[in-house]
Amino acid sequence: MQWLALLVGLIIGSFLNVCIYRIPKGESVAFPPSHCPVCGNKIKWYENIPVFSYIFILKGKCSECKGSISVQYPVVEFITGILFYIFFLRFGLGIFGIKYLIFICLLVVGIWVDFTHYYIPDRISLSIFIIGIMTSFFTIGFEKSVLGAGSFALFYIVLYGFGESFGYEVMGFGDVKLAMGIGAMVGYFNLYQVFMFLNIAFVLGAIIGVGLILLKRKTRKDIMPFGPYIAIAGLVIGYLS
Ligand SMILES: [Zn+2]
Repeated sequence: MQWLALLVGLIIGSFLNVCIYRIPKGESVAFPPSHCPVCGNKIKWYENIPVFSYIFILKGKCSECKGSISVQYPVVEFITGILFYIFFLRFGLGIFGIKYLIFICLLVVGIWVDFTHYYIPDRISLSIFIIGIMTSFFTIGFEKSVLGAGSFALFYIVLYGFGESFGYEVMGFGDVKLAMGIGAMVGYFNLYQVFMFLNIAFVLGAIIGVGLILLKRKTRKDIMPFGPYIAIAGLVIGYLS
């Protein structure tokens, strides 16, 4: 069964790629079918097998115009597949399991859009929040969900407000909304959990930020999105809860 979860994750990852590409452009995620962003060539079914096609059939290039296809595609498929596998083993297919599979999908899209476009779509944060609140009645309870939204967001609201009052952006308001959604989804259990949520995000952000500067991929003046680390922290805390 967990292999089926992996397979479903890979296929859904393929759809998430479409969302990541089209949501920032305001395009429909359903139509038209997948095509090469360079020449518009329609992707054939055997070129659309997650991870496999990219490596063995397309070898990273469009079959028609030989334009290179971003490595994002197989990476997102692979990550979604692995996360489905891990969370399925942990939660099974009950309402908890389904809730977390949706959570994974929304976070994967949010992470990638933030990495590439430096913002987290409201549709993503708001969906996480609403699904968190709605499923709470059958899982963790409404109270835990609301307390989670408040406590997970509190620190980011303070940081955001602090930055605003000094006239520079420490934290985007998108980060506040994302943290709030994650809190509603995961729920408040104790202060230690909230502390871990903040810590994982900041430690990851610091390590990767310093790493990118050392590798000269970024300078200290570059924008560095923080949403991805909040999202990863949310996945870790969700898994452990
Ligand atoms: Zn092409």
